[in-house]
Amino acid sequence: MEALDLDPGDYGGTYKLVGGRPSLDFVNTISWPETGREHDWLSSPGNARRWFAAVDLPFPRAKTVDLASLHKTRQLLARVLRPLAHGEQAPAGALAEFSKAAARAYQHRLIDPASLAWHWPAPQTAAEALAPILLDAADLVTAGDHQRLRFCPSCDWLFEDQTRNGQRRWCDMADCGSRDKARRYYHRTKA
Ligand SMILES: [Zn+2]
Repeated sequence: MEALDLDPGDYGGTYKLVGGRPSLDFVNTISWPETGREHDWLSSPGNARRWFAAVDLPFPRAKTVDLASLHKTRQLLARVLRPLAHGEQAPAGALAEFSKAAARAYQHRLIDPASLAWHWPAPQTAAEALAPILLDAADLVTAGDHQRLRFCPSCDWLFEDQTRNGQRRWCDMADCGSRDKARRYYHRTKA
């Protein structure tokens, strides 16, 4: 899996689209959440723009970017999706807030008169740009297979297991998977 071209600042790691859905990749824009190594990939307008382009979602053209609004929605999605990925119940307060945000997001969607399909008009604000991500999360929560919503046991990134056998364990074999392999090899040879 290739790393996305985001500016890492002085952070040593990389960011990859491993989630399989935009809402999970959005939550994953924080590396090593709630640890001393935590890193926010959406801390600059340039990175935010590049991330939205990479997941093929429209972003406002305005020069200024409301990063706080992106971060707030990301935190809300993490509060709902992370427990589900861990096989736990999401807090009722977070679900209530999420439900309202998803309902607002629906209002941005329009039917295209030519194709008669749902489409997203060009967003004017960060909130509008977040609408498709919120709806992806809403789909995942209400209609997704929660058994296949997982977390990486090494770094806690989230992903939907879309493999046929449903045995996917790591965010990325090349990162966390091989790190674990090396660790197990080390313990085996040490014993
Ligand atoms: Zn991982």
